[in-house]
Amino acid sequence: MDLELKDKVAVITGGSKGIGLGIAHAFAGEGANLVIAARTKSETDKAAADIRQRYGVRVTPVTSDVASVEGCKAVIAAAESAGGADIFISNAGTGTDETVVNAPDEKWQYFWDLHVMASVRISRALALQMEKKGGGAMINIASICAVQPSAYEPIYNTTKAALMMLSKCLSNELISKNIRVNTVNPGLIQTPDWEARAQREHQGSNWQSYLDDIAAKLAPIKRFASVKEVADFCIFLCSPRASYIVGSALHVDGGWLNTV
Ligand code: NDP
Repeated sequence: MDLELKDKVAVITGGSKGIGLGIAHAFAGEGANLVIAARTKSETDKAAADIRQRYGVRVTPVTSDVASVEGCKAVIAAAESAGGADIFISNAGTGTDETVVNAPDEKWQYFWDLHVMASVRISRALALQMEKKGGGAMINIASICAVQPSAYEPIYNTTKAALMMLSKCLSNELISKNIRVNTVNPGLIQTPDWEARAQREHQGSNWQSYLDDIAAKLAPIKRFASVKEVADFCIFLCSPRASYIVGSALHVDGGWLNTV
C-alpha cells in the first residue's frame, strides 16, 4: 500500500529515542523528511545522522526542551525552515511517580507544560503551516493511562487525559482546514527505556522474563508491543489512506484497556 507520505515533512517531538525514534524511522522509510526534537543534542544528532544515511531523506535535529516556550519556538522555526509541516507527532513525554497528596505544584506544572502545553504551543503554529500546504495530520501520543489510571502516577494519568481532550477539541477546530487530529494511546511498548529498567530490576541475563511477567499480568495479548508495531500504526494514521479517521482516540495496547 502506498501511504502517500513521500516528501512530506513530519515533525516529531521526542524523536531521538523509543517510540518517537521508531516513528521517525517509519516515516523516513516512506520517503518523508523529518524534524526531530529532544533535549540531548548528542542523541538527537546521532538519530538524525543514522536516519539520513539509511533512508536518504532530509532530517533536521532540534535540541530543545518542549516543556518550555523557547523549546517549542525552536521546533516551530525548524519546521518552517524545512518547508512547513505536513505532519506533527506530539510524542515527548515520560512517566511520573507520586501521590496527589504529596506532589508539589511545581511537579504538576512541569508535566502540564510537557504533556499538554507543548502540544498546544506547537500545534497551533504548525496548523498554520499545514493550512498553507492544503492540510495535514497530527497525532498526540497520550497513553492507556489517560483512560485507565495506573496506581503510582496520578500526574501522568491526569495530564495525559487532558492531552486526549485537547486533541479532540483541536480536531473539531481544524478539520475544516483539512487537518486531521487524533490521539494514540499506547499500552506496553518495549522501548530501550523499559529494557534498561528490566535489566536494573532483574540483575540477571534473563531480563526479558521481567517484561514478560508484566505483560502476562496486564495485557490479554501477554507481550509488549515492539516500537515498530506502534510506529507502523502511526504512519498509517497520518497517511491520506486514513482520511476518515478524525478526532479519535485509538488504543495500541494488546487488549489492556478493560472497557468497551
Ligand atoms: P522514551 O523515554 O524512550 O523517549 C522519550 C523521548 O522524548 C526522548 O527522545 C527524549 O529525549 C524526549 N523528551 C523527553 N522529555 C523531553 C522534553 N522535555 N523536551 C523534548 N524532548 C523530550 O519514551 P517512550 O518512547 O517510552 O515514550 C514516548 C511517548 O509515549 C511518551 O509521551 C510516553 O508517555 C508515551 N507512552 C509510552 C509507553 C511505553 O510503554 N513506552 C506507553 C504509553 C505511552 P531527551 O531525554 O533527550 O529529551
